[in-house]
Formats: sequence, structure tokens, C-alpha cells
Amino acid sequence: MPEPTVTPMMAQYLQIREANPGALLFYRMGDFYEMFFDDAVAASAALDIALTKRGLHLGQDIPMCGVPVHAAEGYLLTLIRKGFRVAIAEQMEDPAEAKKRGSKSVVARDVVRLVTPGTLTEESLLEARRHNYLAAWAELRGEAALAWADISTGEFRVMNCPLVRLAPELARLAPREVLISETREADCAGIVSDLRAALTPMARGSFDSLGAEKRLCALYGVGSLQAFGTFGRAELSAMGALVDYLELTQRGKLPLLRAPVQESAGSAMQIDAATRRNLELTQALSGGREGSLLAAIDRTVTAGGARLLERRISAPSRELGQIRARLASVRFLLEQSRLREDLREDLRRCPDIDRALSRLALDRGGPRDLVAIRTGLEQAARIAARLPADAPELLAQAVAALGGQEPLVELLGAALVAEPPLLVRDGGFIAPGHDAELDETRALRDEGRGVIARMQAEYIEQTGIAALKIKHNNVLGYFIETTATHAERMLAPPLNETFIHRQTTANQVRFTTLPLNEMETRILNSANHALEIEKRLYDSLKRAVMDQAAAIGEAARALAGIDLAAGFADLAAGGDWCEPLVDDSRAFVVEAGRHPVVERALKRSGAPFVANDCALTEGGTPAIWLLTGPNMAGKSTFLRQNALIALLAQAGAFVPARRAHVGLVSQLFSRVGAADDLARGRSTFMVEMVETAAILNQADDRALVILDEIGRGTATYDGLSIAWAVLEHLHGANRCRALFATHYHEMTALAAKLEGVENATVRVKEWEGEVIFLHEVLRGAADRSYGVQVARLAGLPAAVIERAKVVLEALEKGEREGGARRQAVVDDLPLFSMVRAAPPAPAPSPKAGVLEERLAALHPDEMTPREALAALYALKAAL
Ligand code: ADP
Repeated sequence: MPEPTVTPMMAQYLQIREANPGALLFYRMGDFYEMFFDDAVAASAALDIALTKRGLHLGQDIPMCGVPVHAAEGYLLTLIRKGFRVAIAEQMEDPAEAKKRGSKSVVARDVVRLVTPGTLTEESLLEARRHNYLAAWAELRGEAALAWADISTGEFRVMNCPLVRLAPELARLAPREVLISETREADCAGIVSDLRAALTPMARGSFDSLGAEKRLCALYGVGSLQAFGTFGRAELSAMGALVDYLELTQRGKLPLLRAPVQESAGSAMQIDAATRRNLELTQALSGGREGSLLAAIDRTVTAGGARLLERRISAPSRELGQIRARLASVRFLLEQSRLREDLREDLRRCPDIDRALSRLALDRGGPRDLVAIRTGLEQAARIAARLPADAPELLAQAVAALGGQEPLVELLGAALVAEPPLLVRDGGFIAPGHDAELDETRALRDEGRGVIARMQAEYIEQTGIAALKIKHNNVLGYFIETTATHAERMLAPPLNETFIHRQTTANQVRFTTLPLNEMETRILNSANHALEIEKRLYDSLKRAVMDQAAAIGEAARALAGIDLAAGFADLAAGGDWCEPLVDDSRAFVVEAGRHPVVERALKRSGAPFVANDCALTEGGTPAIWLLTGPNMAGKSTFLRQNALIALLAQAGAFVPARRAHVGLVSQLFSRVGAADDLARGRSTFMVEMVETAAILNQADDRALVILDEIGRGTATYDGLSIAWAVLEHLHGANRCRALFATHYHEMTALAAKLEGVENATVRVKEWEGEVIFLHEVLRGAADRSYGVQVARLAGLPAAVIERAKVVLEALEKGEREGGARRQAVVDDLPLFSMVRAAPPAPAPSPKAGVLEERLAALHPDEMTPREALAALYALKAAL
């Protein structure tokens, strides 16, 4: 038996395969990306495509599957979503070159890119209105930092971030992929998988801070990073690892990253992961965007504006000056409604410049990206011209960033056709009149086509065959076609001297002629030549764009800022929203506040939303409201709406209220008692307590805390005691503003004991024994919980409701007569007898007596299953 051999192509494949572990290998073969061995097995299952075989390797069949190149993006998206990484190996030379080297030689191939969740740039792989972050966390000698970048927009940021802050910061950014040193993988795996991000462990060497500095200097072409700020070792390490990973995945073509911006934890309102989830900031509890705050308030009209909104909502500011400046822009655009509408009209025509620019930088762009830049800059200039000189500071700054690109706009405008093809290789995107040589070449090509059209007429005349046609396809090029019946004449003298047979198909016979061949070569040459010229022009246009990359990036940011301010103004114009007063105090006063998401949902069903006041400052010191009231009255809604009002105010938006005064909030906490959290699948009392502990340990005196039914996840008295102690701690130790909803009425006594703790309740009305929810929040304690009435609404049987009322009355009587009497009262309760409540049972029928006897005679333990079944049939038959 001959020794199994490895073909040269397989040898090349295996070598590339080995150099790129951890990723599926897309191996380019002509018009397909092929996968082999285990990759093929995994990919065919993930993509639901056929698994075939190709040849033998070491005597075994090679499993194979493939996807066509033109449809590859769709397949890539599926694979990335399913958690794969994909290495793309392209042919690096023309197959003809390889042939010249000898029959055995294979086309040179190499991996040109590693596609991972955090490094996507294609429009079809990205969500337009969301960022796609890649993050890296590094820890060095007691310091730790987080760096993150969106290579599709060029944003690049870094901040100090100890391990305890990692989960909340990652929850804010929601990155798609997180890079961690392999030595810390175990500590971070849980945090990253909670976010459903991909974790990519990297060698420790990638995090070396000295190497990082060099890499960053090389990236920005500077001698020192001083110009960007003073970075700590850990910050350098995190940024360096990120850039290292980009080099690895982009294979030398580095994306356009803006200069790194340092963020400090203190500049943004801190919101942890549980609070984000509870408040449904960017995602509803059900998982989607619908039902989230983001969906309810998003009025932006550009993708860049939508991404900025998400960033703002995820990280509201804590800097007073910044918040006020942002509010001033919104106020201005609210007042200038005509201007706002005009601006929004212009903005709607703005393409996503950021992402077009990033694709051009990575050489993944095309003529349409150039057109996007042109259109975007054109709109930017128009917008700049619209804004008056006395616009507020932030808008004035934006104007400065928008203009100054007239030469580039003019160049691109003159050079490109209005609706170019997607790919450079398709050609036809350079406008006529832009380049004389190109025009000339195109004229030659078109002339050739005209000549060919004339040839057809000549050949028809020469042969006398009216049905003769000159056609074109990719295999034969130009050819003359006629039906089989006419063909005989052309195959015989004298016509066969002119017409050379090429192909016979079922009904047609195809020919060529020497002049046709010549003409074709001329057309082909000039078409190729034209394409070459177009490619060259494309490159020079691209260079002209890249020369202005930094300024174009600034313009894109300015456009996003204007879009967001106009969007907020539009929101305020639509409903009765007000500009919040934000200051350095510790006030929190809201008049007639509303929940933007619940209000929107109610509006759809035609129901009104009842606005409510809230005042968490008593004589300048922070206060706590203890909210009681029956279930379904609107307690949670009230709690959340106040948290959202604080958040919106600091995000620089108007708020859904008649008046709002928000003293800067440093941290926002929101927790819901365990019973509401079942959806997360690990709802235990333990989780609830761990989360509550986090608040009690972290909340400072500028925090705003919202606790909804804490303690519910355990037995009544345990729960009550815990809720009681938590409230005392918030009041005495954290000294923060808080809203506390509970169904433990006993807690209302705390208001009398603790200064600054106030009772409030949601009003309900009882009417003919039914409860009516008024959703109105009033100061004072609820007189009763109405739980029994709510149970009736839910459809509990009447007998159970009646019985519950008896128990409740007895318990309340015991309560009034002192705790010691309580047990006695419970003991005294008349026994609950279903028989009394149930209708009298009908008298047994004679048949039933017989059946009863037969049933009694059966001994299931002694019967086989078969006998039991037979007995059952017999009983049924006797009915
Ligand atoms: P609780 O927390 O007291 O059980 P929720 O806050 O969950 O009650 O509110 C129950 C329902 O009542 C909500 O789904 C909403 O439809 C309605 N609701 C709540 N607050 C209001 C309000 N202020 N105005 C109108 N309807 C409200």
C-alpha cells in the first residue's frame, strides 16, 4: 500500500490552520470560502449547510463545507452571533502566477483578517444605532484599568478601574468582546459571561506596559504620549493590549483610532448592573430594546445621534457645568422650533460618516463610503450655516467643527456619480468629466460596443439569417448565435471561411469571427484600462479623505451632538416636559412627575397617567419616603419614575414633570425584592441580600436609592426585620435620599421615630367591595393593604376570599389588642371547614354505590399494570 501523502494545497492549509488557533478558517478557493476537518463539521452545523468530502488526508476522508464569497457576510454574522471567531485566508496572487511557477505549485494564501465580535466594521454585521465595543482590562501591581474602543467609529477611551468596579463599568459599556490576561481569566469569566460578551484571554506579554507605550506611540506617530495626557501603568497596559489585539486581528491594517480620552469614575453617575436592569435603561427586562427608557425617549434621526444617546443614558454626567451647557442647547432648540425642524430635516440626510470613515481606513470601504462622506460633509456645512451666531456654547462649538471641508466636498462631488456601485471592482463610480484619460478610455470601450452592434447587421446581411445575434457571456465573451436549423449553412462553405464554430448547445450553435475577436480584445483592454484608472482615482480620493480624517471625525461628533440636543428638544416639545434645575444641593423635588415608558404604554391604550409629586429633602437634609399601599397601586412605577427623572436630568435632557429640582446624584441604586426577579432564573433571597448589602456598603450621601419590597423573599418576620434594619441604616449611616416601597405596614411606625423619614401611600378607593386604583401618591400611611380585594380581582374563589377576610379581621383585632394577644387570636380562629363553604354534596346514585364496592375490592399493589388497565376499563364500562 502506498504511503499516504499530503497534497501541496493541504500542506498550505494545515500550516495556516496551525498559525491561527481558536478560529474557524475560511480558506479562499476561487469563488468560495472553504472549511475543512473539524471547522467544516462545526460550521456546517452552525450554518445549517451541507457537509461534504474532498479527497483524502493521511488515508481519511476530509470533511468539507463552503460558502460563496458574495454571500459570505451573512454567514459570518451567524457564526459571530453563535460565538465563533473566523480567520479569513485570501488568495494573495493571481492563480495564473502560481501556474507559471510550475504545475504543482499552489496559489499563495494568507490570513488577512480575524473576524471577532469586538472588531466588526461591515454595515451588515453591525447594529447602526448601537456601539460595538471591544474592551481590555489590565491589572498591574495593585493598579487596574479598563480601555475600550469602537473600531467602527474610532472612539477610544480608558479609565482606572479596580476589579470591584469592573462589573458595573462593563454593564455600562455592554462590550461585545473583552480582553483579559490569561492569568486573570478565572476572576473575570463570570462578569463577562453575565453580559453575554465574548471573553478573549491574551498572553501576559500583550499587557506589558512598556511595549504598550511603544505600540501606542507607533499607532499615533508620536514620540511620547504626553500630548494625550498622563497615563498610569495599568491604563497603558490595557490600551496596549487592545491595540495589540487589533494588530493581530486586522493583520497590520490598523483602524482609525482617535486619540485616547481618559475618563474618570467620578465624572459620571455610577449605576451598577442590577440598577441598569431594573430601570430598564437600554434594554427591557424582556430582553429587547422595546419597553426600555432608550426606546421611549429616542427621537434622534441619525445613527451617530442614537449611539450618543445610548452613551449618555448609560453614563449621565456628574459635572454641573457640562449638564447645564447641554440643557442650554436643548432649551435653545426647543424655543427655536422652526430651526429645529430644519436641522432635523438636514440631519435625516446625513449618512453614518463615522462608520464610512472607519471602513475606508481599514481598506474595507468602497465608492459608497466616499459618497457617504461627501453627503455628510455637505449636510454638515448646511447645518453650520443654519445655526445663528448667538447659539449656546455647545452648539457654537459644533458649528466650528462642521465647516471647513468645502474643498473636499467639491472634489468628491465632482469626482463621483450620485449612486455608485458597492465595490470598487465593479467600476463606473467616477463621474464623466473628472478625468480626461478615463473619459477617453471609456469612449474607446463604448465605441467598440457600437462597432459590435453594427457587425450584427452586417453578418445578418451576409448570411441572410435574420435571427442571427451577437451576444456576450462571461465564459465565451462575445459570440454569434443562431438556431441549429440555420447553422448548417454557416458550417458549410463559403460561410465557414468567415464563421468559426465555437459551441453547440441544445438549440443553438455559436460562432466567432476574427474581426469579432479583435474587437472584443480591444473592448476588454479598454474596459480593464478604465477600471485600472478608476481604482487609481479611488485611491487618491480615499487619501484625500484620510488626510482629513481627524476633522471629519470631529464633524461627525458635532452632528451627533446636535442631533441629540434636537431630539431631546423634540421630546420636550411633544409632551409637557420641563427643564430640570440641576445644582450642587441635595434636593430632590419633583412636581407632577411621570414615568416616560409607562406613560407611553398607557397612551396607546387611551388611559391617562396620573402625575405624582416627590420631595426628598426636608429642611435641606436628605429624606426617605416610605411608600405603602396595595399591590398594583403604582408603587414601583412611582419609585422608578423618580430615578429616571434624576438620570434624564443629568444626561442633559428635559424631564417628564411640571417642575424638577435635582441636586447632583453621584450614584443611583435600584433593587427589587427577590420575588420580582424570577425571570433571571437565579432568583434567591441570597441574591437579593447580596445586592442590598452592596448598596448599604457603597451608597454615599449623594446617592439616590430605590428599594422596592426588599425582604419579600423570606418569611414575614424575617423580611420585616431586615427591611426595618435596612431603612435605619440608609437613614443613619448612608444618609442618602431614598424611596422605599414596602407592604409591611408595621414599618410606617418608623416615620415617627426617625427624623426625615416620611410616610407616603398610593391612594385607592373602595367601592361596593371592590378596589379602584387611583395611582395617586399622598403623604401619610395607608390605612390598610387591600390585599384581599386585590386577590379577588385576580380571580381567587369566593370561598377563599371570604375566609381570608375572617382571618384578616381576627388578625387585625389581635394587632389592636397588643402583640401578646395575637397568637391567642390566631388560636381562637374558627377552623376553616371547606364543607361549610362548599355547596352540599348531591346524594350518591345507586350506580355510584356499585362502583364504590368494586373499587374497594381492588388491590393495586397486587396487580400487574395490565391487570390494572383491564380493571380500569371494566369500571368505566360499568358507568
Ligand atoms: P405596585 O408596585 O404598587 O404593585 P406598579 O407600579 O407595578 O404597582 O403599577 C401597576 C400598574 O398600575 C402599572 O402597570 C400601570 O399600568 C398602572 N400605573 C402605575 N402608576 C400609574 C400612574 N401614576 N398612572 C396611571 N397608571 C399607573
